[in-house]
Amino acid sequence: MKDDCIFCKIAKGQIPSATIYEDRHFRVMMDINPATKGHCLIIPKEHFDNIYDLDGETAGRLFSLATCIARALRDALGCEGLNIVQNNGEIAGQTVFHFHLHLIPRYKGDDVKVAWVPHESDPDQLEEIRKAIKAAI
Ligand code: 5GP
Ligand code: ZN
Repeated sequence: MKDDCIFCKIAKGQIPSATIYEDRHFRVMMDINPATKGHCLIIPKEHFDNIYDLDGETAGRLFSLATCIARALRDALGCEGLNIVQNNGEIAGQTVFHFHLHLIPRYKGDDVKVAWVPHESDPDQLEEIRKAIKAAI
């Protein structure tokens, strides 16, 4: 528990939230400023700043829970698609520095933008990058 972390307080129930699901490890709640109908967040009860801090066991449990919530969103809301978004670092759009997974139901004509510009790749550069990442695993 990090004293100045709002999601720690929400996760532990010290600040109320619109909770969909809760267990020993996680709370799933409605995002307070939803991108679309049903936008929700999965937050671990333990504090992790971001994905770099997350342990494998929590990550496994988290994604297993995400599959369950995804099906519930589809069945309850009839969304036509779903984006899973997880931001790490300010430059990537992270505003709350307690790890969280966004589940954003998608509907025809919604105004969500999850996009990037694809660039052409240079095969030599790609190979160099591939090797560097592989060596770091
Ligand atoms: P990030 O930009 O860090 O990936 O996402 C933070 C998300 O948390 C935003 O979508 C924002 O609307 C949501 N959020 C921020 N404060 C609260 C809060 O107090 N309660 C809830 N339910 N969501 C929050
Ligand atoms: Zn926290």
